[in-house]
Amino acid sequence: MRKIAVIGSTGSIGTQTLDVVMQHPEQFVIEGLAAGSNIDMFVQQVNAFRPKKASIGSKQLAEQVAPLLPADVELYYGEQGLIEVAAGTDADFVLSAIVGSAGLPPTLAAIAEGKTIGIANKETLVTAGHIVTELAKQKGVKLVPVDSEHSAIFQCLNGENLNEVDHITLTASGGAFRDLTRAQLQNVTLEDALKHPNWSMGAKLTIDSATMVNKGLEVIEAHWLFDLPYDKIKVLLHPESIIHSFVEYRDGSIIAQLGTPDMRVPIQYAMTYPARLASASKRLSLAEVGKLHFREMDEERFPCLRLAYECGKIGGTATTVFNAANEVAVARFMSRAIPFMQIETIIEEVLSKHIPVAKADLETIQAADRWARETAALL
Ligand code: NDP
Repeated sequence: MRKIAVIGSTGSIGTQTLDVVMQHPEQFVIEGLAAGSNIDMFVQQVNAFRPKKASIGSKQLAEQVAPLLPADVELYYGEQGLIEVAAGTDADFVLSAIVGSAGLPPTLAAIAEGKTIGIANKETLVTAGHIVTELAKQKGVKLVPVDSEHSAIFQCLNGENLNEVDHITLTASGGAFRDLTRAQLQNVTLEDALKHPNWSMGAKLTIDSATMVNKGLEVIEAHWLFDLPYDKIKVLLHPESIIHSFVEYRDGSIIAQLGTPDMRVPIQYAMTYPARLASASKRLSLAEVGKLHFREMDEERFPCLRLAYECGKIGGTATTVFNAANEVAVARFMSRAIPFMQIETIIEEVLSKHIPVAKADLETIQAADRWARETAALL
């Protein structure tokens, strides 16, 4: 039985992870669960899975839920609670499914304890990819991708020689506004941005898909996960989200991974790798799909993707700042404080004020993250 801890258990990835666990109760046992503020779902999950340790967002919430939880569950809260759940149980696999760079400290703590990481939380790698991957190397820890594109690339690279890769291509659905011009984006609303055409995901990620920041974060994530230079990572618009991504080898052969858009498939694969288990997810019928479509990415139309590449190539704190500025801008858009188009303006302006530090240590990364958040909040 695989022992699992889930950081961000009440979110889109977290709940689908627990679905997978429920589908295969003989394979998995939950050792730890951590959530933020959704106390009703948290109480339900802790009672259903009875982990050894559980954590909620704050002391006040912990006091509220404590009487509703089994007495033998150790309850924690806040950042320390996340670390306790990620690193302080017998779990051998930690699913990092929190949203934002808040995922960095628990993910580092779990790696330090030698646990295999299922990495959904891409912001962790974007914020401090060199620190996370270096620690993982030192500890002999595997970072198994959960993001559908990265899971696809991971599967297409299986058993192959990285030196023989010509390039990889991450596919992009294009998000809610893929068919709108920049002029038409001026008047879009929060409700419009939250309507993703193919995937059901958390709110922040759905907005990131609409701005194309998400694909930028994924390009940086791919750089760290697969140790590839940015000029070997391409993006292609593929509205159907059927081909999850592909690798082209130097002989011109392309190996792709396909499936219906259902995150439970890559989540389960990360949890069982290198084995595969049966899945209840809907099967792909290419005959039913009939046609697949592709379009080149237009960097003028999606400037956040261009910015992500630029930051990735600069490295160091540039990607930290890109991510933190975006987190703040998206939060402000979600609270209706700014219009949609101001998200990219804020990211661009914060980056223009930042002098990147190469090979930054954790303290420098955290300082850059704080600075970017403070700056983005004032623009
Ligand atoms: P959601 O917003 O649905 O869920 C986020 C989870 O993180 C919730 O459980 C939330 O708790 C918890 N959380 C957030 N902040 C804190 C905090 N400070 N302390 C403790 N818990 C916290 O996000 P998603 O599931 O959509 O995404 C999670 C990560 O996975 C993101 O990095 C995303 O980019 C990545 N990802 C998601 C995919 C998807 O299909 N959803 C696909 C590929 C990657 P609560 O709700 O209780 O407040």
